[in-house]
Amino acid sequence: MKTSNETRPLYPQRPTGKWHNRRVVFSIAIIALLFVTPFIRLDGQPLVLLNVIERKIILFGIFIGPQDYWLFGLTTLSFFVFIVLFTTVFGRLWCGWACPQTVFMEMVFRKIEYAIEGDAGKQKLLDKAPWTSDKILKKGLKYTIFLIVSFVIANLLLAYVLGTDELYKIISEPVEDHIGLFSGIVIFTAIFYWNFAWLREQACTVVCPYGRLQSVLLDGNSINVAYDHVRGEPRGKLHKGTDRTEGDCVSCFQCVAVCPTGIDIRNGTQMECVNCTACVDACDSIMDKVGFERGLIRYTSENAIVRKTSKVLTSRTWGYAAVLVLLWSALGFVVATRTDTQTTLFRAPGSRYIENSDGTISNLYTFKIFNKTNRIIKPSLHLDTPHGKLLFAGSPDLTLEAAGMSEGTVFVIIPKSELKGRKMVLKLSVSQGNRQLESFETTFIAPEE
Ligand code: SF4
Ligand code: SF4
Repeated sequence: MKTSNETRPLYPQRPTGKWHNRRVVFSIAIIALLFVTPFIRLDGQPLVLLNVIERKIILFGIFIGPQDYWLFGLTTLSFFVFIVLFTTVFGRLWCGWACPQTVFMEMVFRKIEYAIEGDAGKQKLLDKAPWTSDKILKKGLKYTIFLIVSFVIANLLLAYVLGTDELYKIISEPVEDHIGLFSGIVIFTAIFYWNFAWLREQACTVVCPYGRLQSVLLDGNSINVAYDHVRGEPRGKLHKGTDRTEGDCVSCFQCVAVCPTGIDIRNGTQMECVNCTACVDACDSIMDKVGFERGLIRYTSENAIVRKTSKVLTSRTWGYAAVLVLLWSALGFVVATRTDTQTTLFRAPGSRYIENSDGTISNLYTFKIFNKTNRIIKPSLHLDTPHGKLLFAGSPDLTLEAAGMSEGTVFVIIPKSELKGRKMVLKLSVSQGNRQLESFETTFIAPEE
């Protein structure tokens, strides 16, 4: 319960133990991966770019631009189905082990806090203490480091959104040249600072929508950090020298003391539990002390606790897996058949054919060429139907910027003698150098014979 002297509602004890050590190693790997990924390039492109503002996304070297509706839609849908399947089987494994919020909160910010202010008891005393020079020094040091780390994380976020080249420009060039983006870094630094210094576990328990979906996604077979109530209940204090009639839970409340979200896991699976495993370690150490078998709190499912059987592959998981395979197949097809450009070419509105004095027929078209890549393309438009030619209105520069578009009008001119019927299908293509990027068809209108 929060009191008027406390600045935080929760003071979780410093977690220690086998599972915590594993998470430390895994978190170091995750943080290293998060910081290295924006610098990895594939064919000169970032491996990952998440510019949602301009809808330019690169995933594992595949550029998903504003024109890639199918690719974007299928990728997003596959992602959500994968989350649903993963959560149904493994519960909130993601939250405890890989979510950046948990990783940074528990493995960076809380570690800094424990190092400067000490464990939970000392933190509580410090918060209640008057503002002595020692308190000012500790709090000042902690929040300064929090601010610096928040600034680093804000830069990391921008590296994912804008790419490292853009970020380098913001850092190396005068601030007034990038005032908008610099403001972005300041705003995100403030948001991360507020999140990790004040919001903390409430980001998971109040804000995060994923946590709120658990009641729908989890079932009796989902694997979670869970308390074995069959073995633990009825709980009761340990009294030396008397025969124990209660279950294995000795009501020491250590699992509650270490919980970063402040819940009692013995009340069952709860939306607030981020599966951080702190209570597993805490309970195991108590079990060791009292001489009971470890694992009163462990990774398990409700069915495994109650019925002693658990199925990972249920009809529900098979169903999700089937949907995911279908989506991935469609995604594979879209990627395999994807072209670098997308051209639309239509007869100019209201225009008919033109009979020229040299015995040729012209149709006027308007065209738009979209660049679906993240690099500059210098395309050329070709008529692949023999005997005809293209005559551009003016001399348009077709150069396409990354994810850009060029447009113009063009006459298709065909000798009357080559025309067969009133409507004829024409084949056209877009190339860059000798490489054909795309081919498509349009119709050509000729006079009645
Ligand atoms: S740490 Fe284990 S023994 Fe102690 S209260 Fe929690 S479940 Fe019971
Ligand atoms: S109940 Fe256990 S696993 Fe869940 S958040 Fe609390 S300490 Fe972590």
